[in-house]
Amino acid sequence: MTFPSEVERILNTPDRPQLNKRPFYPESDYQHVVLVILDGVSRRVYEAAEIPFIRELQNNGAYFSNCFTSFPTMTASAHSSINSGSYPETHAVGMATGGERVVLDNSIYLSAALKKAGLTSSCVADPTFKGAFSYLSVEYFGHSIPQTGAMARWSFETFKPSFLTVTFYATDTLSHAYGPGHRHVYAALTEVDKEVEKLVHCVRQVSDVEKTLFVIASDHGQVDSDIPVVSECRAFGEPGVDFVPNPGGRTITLNNPSDKQLQQWAAHDMTLKILSPTEVHLLGHHCAPNHHVVCLQEGYTWQKTHNVSIHGGLSTEERNVPLVLSGYGVRPGVYGQVAEGIDIAPTASALLGGQHLPSFQGRILSEALMWDNPLSADDLIEFRRKREAWLKAPKTATGFDTKALLLERRRLEHEYYKAVLQRSNNA
Ligand SMILES: [Zn+2]
Repeated sequence: MTFPSEVERILNTPDRPQLNKRPFYPESDYQHVVLVILDGVSRRVYEAAEIPFIRELQNNGAYFSNCFTSFPTMTASAHSSINSGSYPETHAVGMATGGERVVLDNSIYLSAALKKAGLTSSCVADPTFKGAFSYLSVEYFGHSIPQTGAMARWSFETFKPSFLTVTFYATDTLSHAYGPGHRHVYAALTEVDKEVEKLVHCVRQVSDVEKTLFVIASDHGQVDSDIPVVSECRAFGEPGVDFVPNPGGRTITLNNPSDKQLQQWAAHDMTLKILSPTEVHLLGHHCAPNHHVVCLQEGYTWQKTHNVSIHGGLSTEERNVPLVLSGYGVRPGVYGQVAEGIDIAPTASALLGGQHLPSFQGRILSEALMWDNPLSADDLIEFRRKREAWLKAPKTATGFDTKALLLERRRLEHEYYKAVLQRSNNA
C-alpha cells in the first residue's frame, strides 16, 4: 500500500501529539473508542440474536435498554445524529418539512471534537461521518460482512485511530428483503459477531485493548409494510400538493392542512400520530410553521415496494435500539434511563479528551462510568422520560403540553452545555 507522503509522515511519527487533558474524566486513560453500528437492528431483534461475543461485551459492560434513535428513523439521518451528537435540526439530514435550517460544516462532527485535541478518527462504511482522518467507502466492498470486518481491522492496524467507527449494513439489507425476524438476519448477526471478535483481537494485537472502549449500537429497527395507503390518502387531498410522502414511506408531510383534513387523517387507522410543527421541533427536527407530519402505525406504508419491511417512522420497534458500552471504565449493569444515539459522540469525546462541541445535544453517559459523576444529567433524563410518555400515549391522548416540553429541552441542552464548559475551563 502506498500512501501520499504527508500521510506516511504522520503515520511514522512515533508519538503523535495528543493534547488530551481530560477535564471531564481526569482518571480516564482511554486510548481508543471503537463504535460498531449494526444497521437496522431493533432492541427486540438484538436481544433474540445469537451473538455470543457481543453478549459477553454486554454482560461485562453497560447495556442501555431504553436507548432511542433520532427521528426520522432513516439511516443517513440517524447516523448523522450518532456521528455529530446532535438532532436533524442541527445536522440538517432529515425529512422534507420545510423550515429554517442552516447546513453546518464538518465542525459539528465528533471528528472535529477530537481533531481539536490532536486526536484522530477513522471511518469504515459510513458516508455521514464527516471529517475523519481516513474514510473507507462502502462502495468499495459492498455489504459483505467479512469484507467490512477486514476493512475495519485494516483501518485500525494502519491508523490506530483514537476513534474508529464501522457499520455493518447486511443486517438492514436482509431485513428489508426478508423481514427483521427472518433467520437470514439472525445468521448475519452471528457472522457480524465473529467479525467483532476478530476486531477486538486485532486491537489487542496492535494496541492496548485494556484502554479501549467498545460501543455496540444501531440506527433504527424495521417494521412490516403490508398495507399501502396511497390510494386511501387521495380522500384527504391531492398527493404532491396537499401532502408528500417522505423516503421510506413511513411518514407523510402535510402542507398547510385545514382543520378538517387534520381530523380526517387523525380518524384513520393508519395514523399512529400527527405531529404539529411544535412537536416536530420537540423531536429535534426543523419544520415550517404550516407543515405537519403524519406517522404511520406498524404495518402501514405509503406504497408497496420490493421490500418486506421498512423504517423511517415513530413506532417503538423503529426507535428502540440496543446500546452497549464495554471497557475498563464502565460500571457493568443494565441501565433503564433513556439514552439516545446522540449521547455516543459526547461520551466518546469526554473519555478520549476531545472537546465538548457547542453543537452537541446529547449527554455524557456518566451513570455507566466508574468515576465520580462530575455533572448530573438528571434533568435531561427526566425530560426524556416525559417525552417518551407522550410518544407512547395514544394519538387521542390529551394532557401533554408539548410546547412546554420543547422549551424545556432547549433550556436543558443549553444548561448542560454551559455546565460541561464550566467544568472544562476549571480543570
Ligand atoms: Zn439503517
